[in-house]
Amino acid sequence: MIDAKIIDIDVQDIRFPTSLQQDGSDAMHTDPDYSCAYVTIKTDKEYKGYGLTFTLGRGTEIVVLACKALFKIVKNHTTTEIYDDFASFWRKLTCDPQLRWIGPEKGVIHLATAAIINALWDLWARIENKPVWKLLTDMTPEKLVSTVDFRYIRDIVTEEQAIEMLRNNMIYKNTQESMLIRNGFPAYTTQVGWLGYSDEKVENLCKLYLDKGFTAFKAKVGQNLDDDIRRCEVIRKVIGYKNKLMLDANQVWEVDEAIEWMTKLAKYKPLWIEEPTSPDDNFGHSLIKDKLKQYNIGVASGEMCANRVLFKQFLTFGMDFCQIDSARIGGINEILAVYFMAKQKNVPVCPHAGGVGLCEMVQHLQMWDYICLSQTTENRMIEYVDQQHEHFENPVQITNAHYMPPVNPGYSTKIKDECILKYAYPEGEYWKSKQSNKNLEK
Ligand SMILES: [Mg+2]
Repeated sequence: MIDAKIIDIDVQDIRFPTSLQQDGSDAMHTDPDYSCAYVTIKTDKEYKGYGLTFTLGRGTEIVVLACKALFKIVKNHTTTEIYDDFASFWRKLTCDPQLRWIGPEKGVIHLATAAIINALWDLWARIENKPVWKLLTDMTPEKLVSTVDFRYIRDIVTEEQAIEMLRNNMIYKNTQESMLIRNGFPAYTTQVGWLGYSDEKVENLCKLYLDKGFTAFKAKVGQNLDDDIRRCEVIRKVIGYKNKLMLDANQVWEVDEAIEWMTKLAKYKPLWIEEPTSPDDNFGHSLIKDKLKQYNIGVASGEMCANRVLFKQFLTFGMDFCQIDSARIGGINEILAVYFMAKQKNVPVCPHAGGVGLCEMVQHLQMWDYICLSQTTENRMIEYVDQQHEHFENPVQITNAHYMPPVNPGYSTKIKDECILKYAYPEGEYWKSKQSNKNLEK
């Protein structure tokens, strides 16, 4: 391991004007400008690490400040110190005796943790000259498990059990890896069904993605029942009933309302309803899950689940599909904890993606899971949204509706320099020219 000292950080507020086209719009987030707090960790050697957390525009400046506050804990540590005992370092970052008061392990401070931890994993993979999925899969079970803080989850899964799970699967690893390199990992598309899109646009996009080989499609629902019925009709007319349809309410309903609404949409046979109510409401999710079972509609959730402790509740009571998010909770270390719990509870992981860089990152984790842990694609797929990839130096590669394993070193998180110059907020060229146009209008 090359021993590099971490000496500095650069944090950018980067915002893309996606609200202009209604891309990303749902029942709760009606005009998102897809954004990120983007972290570059600098060392005293030639290596840098790039990481980010995803945001929707306003408020990104607060996450940027939180990243800078957390960096004080990272500064002057060496890569050997960090990666030799990553779980302890992770706890130091998430459990600072003063900073933890503004979490703990939730909200802005935990989003910032994700950005920094993601940058540290990118740095590690760059030093090892491997993509993150390969870095993870090449680790011994003991080394991989040593990166995870098991505090608060040992009643579900312990370090020893996690090591055992990985050990039991080792004989199949090489076969799994060759299958992944050959076939990739299945993706589903959410591109067809943003809430702000017209019926005509939804229909055309369904045709387009069907032609591209997609077999699973997700649409946003929850603002108006008549609109939802009409949109489900449009989608099912194009994709038929052999392909999968998933629905996403983005937390908009009361518990009873969710059950009633979904009963009316049951005839369109959705595989799942995603985030039917508050992302913190495990009790509500479990009621909805029980009531919708008779229609074979599962409950999916997790993209806004705050940490592994909440995942513990949901995986036990309130989730049929677990949707980890690569830019939320405390980065890879904590997400690995969720994968182990999901395996223990037999809940399939179907990662949340889209946004900015989420597809780029989360593919690495699901590929590790496919090679080392669940070793299956059954009931599993990664969300795919065809937006914002052009800003990344190593964007995702989708072939016949499958994510192909990344080949470049790192976590696929490095954003192109020209993109930062253009979209940094508020001083980037795009936002500056927008401001001067506004001043001219006055
Ligand atoms: Mg969602």
